[in-house]
Amino acid sequence: MVVCTCGASTSLRTLWTTQNPGLHFHRCNKPSSCEFVAWAEPPKIENLAVMIPALLDTIKRHEENARQMFARNMKLEEEAKKLAQEKKMLKVILGFGFFVVHVLLC
Ligand SMILES: [Zn+2]
Repeated sequence: MVVCTCGASTSLRTLWTTQNPGLHFHRCNKPSSCEFVAWAEPPKIENLAVMIPALLDTIKRHEENARQMFARNMKLEEEAKKLAQEKKMLKVILGFGFFVVHVLLC
């Protein structure tokens, strides 16, 4: 474990910037009083700089798809509520129709 110059422990973190995607660094656990940062080992996968942006793009596409599906689901739920109300109304009309026919025939 890397210890900060102030004596506090550090946390291993990962950068997700486009310039240094996947690069690991140690940061002091007392960031308010200490700004210690030390680079950790370089990434072991050579084409990580290519893979991570591609994966981030994939995540963005999936998030956009999820947003679109959520909006579509909301519309379908509203439509289902309207159809359920129409069904209730048609049942009432049908019941009244049967009552009228029954009264007229008896
Ligand atoms: Zn420190």
